[in-house]
Amino acid sequence: MTVALTEQALLEHYVKKILAAPVYELAVRTPLQAAPALSEALGNRILLKREDLQPTFSFKIRGAYNKLVHLTAEQRTRGVITASAGNHAQGVALAARELGISASIVMPVTTPELKVLGVRNRGAEALLHGESFPFALAYALDLAERTGREFVSPFDDPDVIAGQGTVAMEILRQHPGRLDAIFVPVGGGGLIAGIAAYVKYLRPDVRIIGVESQHSACLQAALLAGERVTLPEVGTFADGVAVAQIGAHGLDICRFCVDEVMTVTNDQLCAAIKDIYDDTRSITEPSGALAVAGIKQYVARTGVRGETLVAIDSGANINFDSLRHVAERAALGVEDCVS
Ligand SMILES: *Cc1c(COP(=O)(O)O)cnc(C)c1O
Repeated sequence: MTVALTEQALLEHYVKKILAAPVYELAVRTPLQAAPALSEALGNRILLKREDLQPTFSFKIRGAYNKLVHLTAEQRTRGVITASAGNHAQGVALAARELGISASIVMPVTTPELKVLGVRNRGAEALLHGESFPFALAYALDLAERTGREFVSPFDDPDVIAGQGTVAMEILRQHPGRLDAIFVPVGGGGLIAGIAAYVKYLRPDVRIIGVESQHSACLQAALLAGERVTLPEVGTFADGVAVAQIGAHGLDICRFCVDEVMTVTNDQLCAAIKDIYDDTRSITEPSGALAVAGIKQYVARTGVRGETLVAIDSGANINFDSLRHVAERAALGVEDCVS
């Protein structure tokens, strides 16, 4: 009983922060769009939340702006530093420029050039360091300590989580009717934490289902272990979610707000990129297609029909060169999914 009250208080705290987040000074309200071909194929009504249409082509701008706008005048003067596989970096760079804050961003050397340029073109400093996100993160934390710049976590921060939670606020307003489940891609857990907190407070009947790459399933590992674990290895095909350890703030929410966490393969992601293309004529990045891949696997496994299922289409930052690989693998992913 005491625990339940504490949990309710935590959700209320986040709902208030989400409602007060001034993200629309930079982010846009994205469409919640029907996916007719997918809906027909799956026998369920599939809606896509088009976060790939944000100014930086991913939802990260929401959390980054909400974090920076809450810094004190002194913190703003000292500047910010962050580590990111790319999309958070662009969010921070754009938010920092908007607010006149100097920003340094550490990115793994494997980051697609498109995302590195996205940072530099927005006036921030991009430092390439480490093979994957965990190494970039360690370096950025060290630099923050030495330079006195404020570290801006891509996911493990209440202001970031609240910014991402505005996605859920829009979904519930855009779709007040029947809603069975929201499928959310998971990297470090900021997005799913914000969405889950808002939805479970207002519409607890709506299922929240996390979808992870099988090569970076750090939320599933943490929920199984009952604590945060660090994955020994992380695959980077879905570079937007290549995170080895779920955030502590996010896990606090996810452990009682997330109904299920599933994993999908890279080939399933490629197939989902094609599905999204077929319905929208837009290209998503691998992480951006996680939720659609998750819905397909979920429907195949459970056999549900006639439900209304939302997928967060979270980002579109993919190098043009990678599309050949995606197109080649897409056919294989289709086979994966049917089984
Ligand atoms: C960051 C990101 C995610 C995952 O968000 P987390 O808050 O790290 O869980 C999913 N998709 C894209 C495109 C992203 O950039």
